[in-house]
Amino acid sequence: MSTYFCPTTLWNFFYKNQIYKAVHELSIVLSVVDAAAQVAHENQAERIDAIELEIGALSGVELDALEFAWSEGIKRSILAQAEKKFTLIPGKAECSDCGLSFPVTTLYDPCPICNSYFVQVTEGRELKIKSITLEAV
Ligand SMILES: [Zn+2]
Repeated sequence: MSTYFCPTTLWNFFYKNQIYKAVHELSIVLSVVDAAAQVAHENQAERIDAIELEIGALSGVELDALEFAWSEGIKRSILAQAEKKFTLIPGKAECSDCGLSFPVTTLYDPCPICNSYFVQVTEGRELKIKSITLEAV
């Protein structure tokens, strides 16, 4: 498998231009590129046509930064031509005391009914590749 792709150059570019804000997102993009390359390799595909990511609202990823890191990070990679879709998953939690399921915007929101802090986040932390579409052969 050939790699045209130089993460070191990319990191230098991000640091030199002081895009610290997107450094976390860049590391995510690079691991997505790795995972996609692995899938393509296993299936003897040379290109990926589409990729869909699910991004939890509580995952700590900033969407703007991710968009920027994505456009830089996929250059000359197997994902360069891929159509991408980011699906945002809203935060959701369940109260351990009263059992209520409710939307949350942070990891530390209390239960809106009983004010308990014993709540478990059930959705919105995920950050994953939902689907990869390989080149049509
Ligand atoms: Zn409750």
